[in-house]
Amino acid sequence: MPIVIDKDMLPKNPVTRFAPSPTGCLHLGHVASAIFVWGVAKVLGAKVILRFEDHDRQRSKKHFISNILHELEYLGFICKGDFGWDCLVYNQSENEGRYEKALDWLRSKGLTYACSCSRKDINNQNPSNDSVELLYLGTCRNKHLAESDNLGLRVLFDGNDEQFIDLIKGVEVQNPGRQCGDLLIKDRRGNWTYHFSNVVDDLYDLVNIVVRGEDLFDSCGRQIKLMKLLSANKLPVYLHHPLILDNSQKEKLSKKRRSLSISQLIDQKVPPQAILAEAAFQIGLCEKIERLSIEEVERFFVVKE
Ligand code: GLU
Repeated sequence: MPIVIDKDMLPKNPVTRFAPSPTGCLHLGHVASAIFVWGVAKVLGAKVILRFEDHDRQRSKKHFISNILHELEYLGFICKGDFGWDCLVYNQSENEGRYEKALDWLRSKGLTYACSCSRKDINNQNPSNDSVELLYLGTCRNKHLAESDNLGLRVLFDGNDEQFIDLIKGVEVQNPGRQCGDLLIKDRRGNWTYHFSNVVDDLYDLVNIVVRGEDLFDSCGRQIKLMKLLSANKLPVYLHHPLILDNSQKEKLSKKRRSLSISQLIDQKVPPQAILAEAAFQIGLCEKIERLSIEEVERFFVVKE
C-alpha cells in the first residue's frame, strides 16, 4: 500500500532533508528513512538537503561523515560530482554563526537563562515523573545565574499547546511545557543541543517538509514552539515514518546496538538494490522483494489531489 499524501497539506516549493548524526555507521533503519525522504522528495519535486548533525562534538567523528557519504553514494541517494537529486550537503559544525545569531535573538528578548542542573539533578527534582523523558521544572528560571562555559542554557517555554500537521497522522497537538519544560539549547559541555541546532537549520534552509522516524514524533511540539520564538513565519509539515524494529529485542535499530551496518553489507558485496529492497520490506513499504532500484523509491508515495 502506497503512502498517500494529501495535496492540500503540502507547502509550495517543497524542501526536505536527511539529517544523520555522524556518531556511528548507517544501518538498515537509516536506509529506510532515506527511502522515505528521497521518495517523498521525488514524488513532490522537492529539494533534499543532506545535513550532518555533528552538534555533539564529543561523539561526532569525521570518519563517520565520510562513511555515510560513501554509503549514500553506493545506494544511489547522492551522485558524486553532480548531485543528481538536487542535494545540498553540509555539516552543522560549519554553521556556528547561525546558532550564535539565533541565541542572540532569544537572549535579546529575555527568553534565555543559564542552568546548572544535570540530568541526575532533574530526575531528583521530579521523582514523580514516570515518563521516559526528562521534565525540567524550571529550577534555575529565577536564579539569574551568569552565563558561563560550564552551565547550560535554556529557553523559556509558555504552557500553551502546539498544533502541527503530520502527513500520515493528520492534525496533532502537543504540550511541550508538560512534556519537557524549558528547552535546553546549549548543554553544559558547550554543545548546541539537537533541538536547537536542528530547528535553526530547518529555518535557515527553508525546510518545509520534515520527514523522519516516529521516535522523533514527541519532538515536534517543542521544535515548533522554538521556531515561533525565533519568529518563524511559516512552519513545516511533518511526516513521521515507522521504525524498523530489531526482531529479537523489539527495540528500534540503533548505531549503539549491534545492528548490521551498511558498511558491513557493502564489504560483503551485497548490491545496493538488495539493500534498498530489504530496508523497504522491513519498514513495511512493500512485500519481500529481491531488488529495488533507487529510481523506484518514489513508487511508494502518492499525492492525492
Ligand atoms: N540527527 C537526528 C537523528 O539522527 C535527525 C533528526 C531529525 O530528522 O529531525 O536522529
